[in-house]
Amino acid sequence: MSLSIQHLVIIGTGLIGGSLALALKQAGVVKRITGVGRSPQNLHDAIRLGVIDDASDNIQQAVQDADMVLLAVPVAACAQVFKDIADALPEHAIITDAGSTKQSVIKDAQKSGLDMSRFVPAHPIAGTEHSGAAAAFPTLFQNHRCILTPSTETSAESLAKVREMWKYTGANIEIMDAKQHDDIMASISHLPHLTAFSLINALHDDDVFRFAAGGFRDFTRIASSSPEMWRDIALCNAAAITDKIDALQHELHDLRQALQTQNGEALLQKFTAAKQARDQWLSAYGDNI
Ligand code: NAD
Repeated sequence: MSLSIQHLVIIGTGLIGGSLALALKQAGVVKRITGVGRSPQNLHDAIRLGVIDDASDNIQQAVQDADMVLLAVPVAACAQVFKDIADALPEHAIITDAGSTKQSVIKDAQKSGLDMSRFVPAHPIAGTEHSGAAAAFPTLFQNHRCILTPSTETSAESLAKVREMWKYTGANIEIMDAKQHDDIMASISHLPHLTAFSLINALHDDDVFRFAAGGFRDFTRIASSSPEMWRDIALCNAAAITDKIDALQHELHDLRQALQTQNGEALLQKFTAAKQARDQWLSAYGDNI
């Protein structure tokens, strides 16, 4: 199947929405891209940088002749956006999203009255700590996974079209259940972000930052991510993240005990196990990170 999108409407024209726009433009598979957002300055930047062709501050009007609509807003904003567009969409339009949590977004879509056969939930596993259209770049998704989590109602035709769209960005597509997606992301994305935020907060009153070097910068890079986006992700995947926080607290408790009892053997075991697991991960998957 060769893809041709006549009118793509991107609601939330930031890093993710903007990067998808640039990738699809570069691939030559989209005729017109309209951006919708809450920041006129960001939409202005998006037009100036060639990310979108035009912008609209009227969400219903913007989607009325769209054949593809992407929601790339913080996940807690999706509920209102679905409600705003549900009745304005033309019958043939396919709707997808890029949200970092999938069960919450699917529930929000169902509640809005959207035709669920045309909704394909998606999450590209690529990003940076920067936000806004000015941070977008066309190769962001290349060689990264994009996970699609169709609901039981998603039609095969809608799924095929969204799958094709993401393929043009250079992403490797995986399909899985939304709950499995949320559990995996709690481990490899949500817990690390919350840990980075916490580490900075635990230390920042100590006036030690001026001595910090590369290791500290690497470990804490993701604490520069958008607080609003992460508030939403944390709230929308709270149960799975809470389980992972418990597991981390358990590990820290073990380390604390080993320190208090001067148990070097226990520390060595913990550090060796962690190094082996990380080295194995990098040798198996390092080329695709
Ligand atoms: P971003 O902050 O760069 O862009 C979000 C855009 O949405 C902004 O332009 C903002 O003004 C706009 N916006 C916010 N609320 C809105 C509303 N109610 N209506 C219309 N526009 C609104 O964020 P991003 O990194 O592009 O993230 C977008 C989505 O993609 C989020 O759901 C996030 O969870 C997901 N995601 C992010 C990453 C990442 O690493 N940044 C990776 C994968 C998925």
